Amino acid sequence: MSRRSLAVVGLAVTLVVAAGCRRHRGRASASESQPTVATDLAEKARKTSRAFALWRSLTDEVGPRLAGSPGDAKAVEWALATMKSLGFANIRGEKVMVPHWDRGTARGSLVAPVVQPLQLVALGGSVGTPEGGLEGDVVSVASIEALDALPIESVRGKIVFFDKPMNRTKDGSGYGKAVDVRGKGAIAAARKGALGVLIRSVGTGAARLPHTGAMRYLDELPKLPAAALAGPDADLLHRTLERTGAARVSFTLGCRQLEDAPSANVVGEVPGSEKPDEIVLIGAHLDSWDLGQGAIDDGAGVAAVLETGRLLLELPRRPRRTVRVVLFANEENGLKGAQEYARLHQAELAKHLLGLEIDLGAGRVFGLQYLAGPGAAAMMKTVAAPLANLGVSPPVEHDGHGADLWPLRNAGVPVVELQQDASKYFDLHHTADDTLDKVDSADLDQVTGATAAFTWGAADVVGDLGRIPDAKRK
Ligand code: ZN
Ligand code: ZN
Repeated sequence: MSRRSLAVVGLAVTLVVAAGCRRHRGRASASESQPTVATDLAEKARKTSRAFALWRSLTDEVGPRLAGSPGDAKAVEWALATMKSLGFANIRGEKVMVPHWDRGTARGSLVAPVVQPLQLVALGGSVGTPEGGLEGDVVSVASIEALDALPIESVRGKIVFFDKPMNRTKDGSGYGKAVDVRGKGAIAAARKGALGVLIRSVGTGAARLPHTGAMRYLDELPKLPAAALAGPDADLLHRTLERTGAARVSFTLGCRQLEDAPSANVVGEVPGSEKPDEIVLIGAHLDSWDLGQGAIDDGAGVAAVLETGRLLLELPRRPRRTVRVVLFANEENGLKGAQEYARLHQAELAKHLLGLEIDLGAGRVFGLQYLAGPGAAAMMKTVAAPLANLGVSPPVEHDGHGADLWPLRNAGVPVVELQQDASKYFDLHHTADDTLDKVDSADLDQVTGATAAFTWGAADVVGDLGRIPDAKRK
């Protein structure tokens, strides 16, 4: 059967079932049209390959878009205009105040026992150093727990080096195991009276490129300047300490925290045909770090959800529920966009069937995870079934999901993660090498196809997924 005749059959089935599914209201089953439409959507994503042009436009015409920066404001304008050109309904920018941090310049050096320049970048949110930089002996630890166990005298006045490598895994789980030193290392080091913090970059690449990323302080503790070393430079420091037992480093950071600035969550919808007040939320984050173009993080996700919206808008029959595309502000260094979304839409969160975020580059989707109410398994299996054609394994209950979904999860809204192949993602993540040339558009088409197929099924299915039980919301 030709592709054209398949599409005609798909349309006929759709029209028949559009009436038929009303008879089944209340039953937890997918409408009969769902597998055909979902498969056709994925095929169309592959054949038209339009997500790449959206991706290219965002990365080349807007570029880096750190929260509160001019690039961030430009990205909001780009997203509003792009949604308009794609035919979305109810397009708006929902204002959010975001932290505005400016990186400034960074430089550093191993100063003893040998002099060697170090490749490093400030962690996002770090305070700057005094103008002349800071210099100190290094105390190396493999984890926050190891630092906590050291006597204060062995840390006071020194520079703490968190030497915690990240493991490369297909599901990206190595990241979660290594990233605590980036987020909380400066707090732990301040408790021990340290002077500053260096971490081994949380990444898997061999390139001499440091990885930035968010960090936190506590108001009651001194705020220590914190930077990430490129992997090869962390290796040098590691070998030096192993060989000589001592090392001295210096570094200078010019970063500053500016006044909070206005940004926006950009929202557009594919209105539901039967239950427009019920919402399937698909999102990505519009902001990015400033070192690269924000192509894999999260330009790919932005392109995938926008193209999903376009594919659904082109259908002869819209899904029963509304599909709401949300491009979140400030995921990287504050999560203010996600928090503001949940606050502003609190009254309708009970009407959100689920939230899904694409935020793992363009690596191909190979699995699906979800967290929902008891008894959701059968419905998830039905909705996800057409994804088998794309090489996606059946859904499993698990609590991994995009960071912007946290406030929704806290409110009990079911969350879904399309598991993407992250084997190479963390080579580039948060580095200057996060640029458009890195990824194959065919991979992005598969991600877009999986997103569209799943979104269609979720938005058209009869029944619901319940709410996440209280014990699993935090
Ligand atoms: Zn991201
Ligand atoms: Zn990121």
